[in-house]
This record gives sequence, structure tokens and C-alpha cells, in this order.
Amino acid sequence: MKITLIRGDITEQQVDAVVNAANSSLLGGGGVDGAIHRKGGPEILDECRKLRASHYGGGLPTGQAVATTGGLLPAEWVIHTVGPVYSAAEDRSAQLASCYRESLRVADDLGVESIAFPAVSAGVYGWPMQDAARIAVGTVRATPTKVTDARFVLFSTDAYAAFEHALGTP
Ligand code: ADP
Repeated sequence: MKITLIRGDITEQQVDAVVNAANSSLLGGGGVDGAIHRKGGPEILDECRKLRASHYGGGLPTGQAVATTGGLLPAEWVIHTVGPVYSAAEDRSAQLASCYRESLRVADDLGVESIAFPAVSAGVYGWPMQDAARIAVGTVRATPTKVTDARFVLFSTDAYAAFEHALGTP
């Protein structure tokens, strides 16, 4: 699998699937979530509502992932995953790693070859960027998958630098 870093907006990626840093309600939020629903249109929210009704009445658990259409996005699919809120008191890194692993598992189920990830949990959920990058890169590298093209799409220079550092660290 080829792993690349891109500085930019995940909603503009020409890939089979983009990963959304969703919240467990699946009903939208700020950050990446807001951008994906804004650009992807109402079809995505529609499918999220149906998933809630059929499977996730209590919300999508942290660390899990589920797919909807990409709606009006260039990507065919959105894979929604719920990152953990950062806690200094409790180690939640296994849950963050699970987001990447489960997203790749869903991607494999869909036959996805190219995927774009944001820095899950590193926005509103407060995860320190260096550590979020280490977990993201380490997990994607270590996960067996049929995906051949994995991109991390980073919004800020700081995020890009953190991922560059993580990618350079074996
Ligand atoms: P979380 O709630 O999991 O922390 P956020 O969406 O708040 O998720 O933030 C995750 C990361 O994504 C942050 O680093 C944020 O700056 C970045 N981000 C926000 N919008 C976009 C976007 N359109 N494309 C790529 N990254 C984005």
C-alpha cells in the first residue's frame, strides 16, 4: 500500500472513499463532518438517519466505522468513524487505532482501492496532533488490506508536519 500526505480539504479528494471524523449521533457536526455534509449534500445525512434507525439507535460506538454514499462528493463512499475524545487521564489510543482499522475493514468490504483519511480526533476531540499522527500512520501501515492508495489529508501546516514526522518514523 502506498501512503501519501496531502495538504488540503478532504472533501475534494478524488478517491473511492473518504473517511469522516463523525460523532456517534451520525447526524453531523463541525470540522470534517460539517464539511462533508455541506459538500456531499442531503443524501449522506439521509443514509446516516436510516443507519441510526436500523442499527445504531444508541449511536455508532467509538472506534467503529460504517459507510454511506458519497452523495455529491467526488468520492463514491463516505466511511464514518467515531474517534475518542482525548483524555490525559485515560489511554484511549486503542480506540483511535480501531477507527483506522475498522475504516479499512469497511473499505475492503466495499472493494475500495483508494481512501482518504483526516486526522481523526485531532480537532474538536482534542487529541495532540503528533500523537494522533503516530497512531494514524502506525495503524494504517500495520493493517492488512486490499486498499492500495491511502492518503492522509491534512488541513494545517502543523498537521502536515506531524504526519510527515510520523511517516518518517519506522
Ligand atoms: P474530531 O471531532 O474527531 O476531532 P474534527 O473534524 O474536529 O474531528 O477535526 C479533525 C481534523 O480534521 C482536525 O485536524 C481539523 O483541522 C481537520 N479538518 C477540518 N476540516 C477538514 C477538511 N475539510 N479536510 C481535512 N481536514 C479537515
